[in-house]
Amino acid sequence: MRKIQMVDLQSQYYKIKPEVDNAMLNVLDSAAFINGPEVKLFQKELEDYLQIPHVIPCANGTDALQIALMALDLKPGDEVITADFTFAATVEVIHLLGLKAVLVDVNYDTFTIDPEQIRKAITPRTRAIIPVHLFGQCADMEEILEIAKVHQLHVIEDNAQAIGAEYTFSDGTVKKSGTMGVLGTTSFFPSKNLGCYGDGGAVFTSDDALAHKIRGIVNHGMYERYYHDEVGVNSRLDSIQAAVLRKKLPNLDLYNEARRKAADFYDEAFSGHSDLLIPVRSSQSTHVFHQYTLRIKNQRRGALQEYLQEHDIPSMIYYPVALRKQKAYFQQSDDKDFESTDKLLGEVLSLPMHTELDEEQLKYITDTVLEFFKGE
Ligand SMILES: *Cc1c(COP(=O)(O)O)cnc(C)c1O
Repeated sequence: MRKIQMVDLQSQYYKIKPEVDNAMLNVLDSAAFINGPEVKLFQKELEDYLQIPHVIPCANGTDALQIALMALDLKPGDEVITADFTFAATVEVIHLLGLKAVLVDVNYDTFTIDPEQIRKAITPRTRAIIPVHLFGQCADMEEILEIAKVHQLHVIEDNAQAIGAEYTFSDGTVKKSGTMGVLGTTSFFPSKNLGCYGDGGAVFTSDDALAHKIRGIVNHGMYERYYHDEVGVNSRLDSIQAAVLRKKLPNLDLYNEARRKAADFYDEAFSGHSDLLIPVRSSQSTHVFHQYTLRIKNQRRGALQEYLQEHDIPSMIYYPVALRKQKAYFQQSDDKDFESTDKLLGEVLSLPMHTELDEEQLKYITDTVLEFFKGE
């Protein structure tokens, strides 16, 4: 059996190595390292895939979030609501821009931001909501967009973990994740569902004026060379990464399908187990399983993780600390409002999840997990 890894980028690369190598070498030959034709072509191809008029590539997913917020002309102290249970980048950029992060609890079953808690957190200073499509499944966008409409708030979707997922509204409309809010952002970090071989990210929007503004922001606020109309940043996707992404984008749906098949295998083995809760799949969103995250009951998580490690099976805790408790973003808050987050911090365990898991590996992983509980 091949060694089991949390993410196996090497095996995936070997399957597309000749075409990716060739694409990278072509960029070297052309020497168009920055803003070369590959970047433009990738942008177009991603716009087609997402069915959205504007994709603006940038340097990474964290920049994408920062740039999205910069485009909205928020004032210092304006409040942005986001989830307490997610990767820190979302909250980090809010703080960087002098805005106020208002963290709210997530839904215990779906791990995504709880619309009821958003409603409770709205004040006259609230300007935006950033739902995170955590672990590969869309947040409850129908309700979030409704709240945003009533209170006139911007919605920025952090789509770093869910590219390729689809959301079905109750009127039957289907949209790709990241294209429902006024802005969507993503990351092409190597381990993401659509990853490059370095750093990369993008902002999506249907709004022509915002797209124009963002194209300037990513380029030092320049709309005409050496005329700076905005305080911008320097945030670019380089041509080599764009060339890699152009080879991987046509496989994205297959990659997501491979993840889903691995998740189905896990689900089948674990469903109904008294010590385990499998990820709950929303009826409105497809799941692209950036992570396969179990909730381990009865305080058995630590022992299970150790047992897995002894059997050469990696596992990870995403995430061990609530953002409101992080030193950098500490908020005085009442723990009673964060029941789900606080429970999840003690229960979540993510198993190996990538496109290259084979049945032998999956069987070994599920057998080992089940053996652990039998041995109790
Ligand atoms: C990975 C990730 C980011 C940041 O992306 P980078 O490209 O690493 O900057 C932001 N939000 C979420 C939810 C992520 O998973």
